[in-house]
Amino acid sequence: MDDPVEQFGAAPAAQRSWLRAMGRGLRKRCPQCGRGGLFAGYIRTADACPACGLDLTGHRTDDAPPYVTVMIVGHLAIPIALAVRQLAEPPLWLQFAIWLPAIAIATFWTLPAVKGAFVGLQWANRMHGFAGADADPTADA
Ligand SMILES: [Zn+2]
Repeated sequence: MDDPVEQFGAAPAAQRSWLRAMGRGLRKRCPQCGRGGLFAGYIRTADACPACGLDLTGHRTDDAPPYVTVMIVGHLAIPIALAVRQLAEPPLWLQFAIWLPAIAIATFWTLPAVKGAFVGLQWANRMHGFAGADADPTADA
């Protein structure tokens, strides 16, 4: 009675590593194969992975990536800005000239990676549109 097909009437779903899927997403790669690009635009996901054909339209990341991006960038930028202010006391115009572009660049650089990680997490947990059967990641597209 150890056979799950006998016990539950269906084969168990293959394990999906959330850590590997999020790592692939951080690198803006397909969570299933890690070869194809995840995005067709800046943060617009491709309809399908160009390498393995995984349907990428099922993710629902919504506001989570911007929220986490602001949390990450804010927690890095604010202490550094405060430390610079305490140590060097630069004029206000110089602080704006440095911190506004630096924070904008950090935010725009971080956002796609965080979104990719969320797509990977959703795929690994079979959330939303990723509940389908596993494709063979080694198959040629
Ligand atoms: Zn793929």
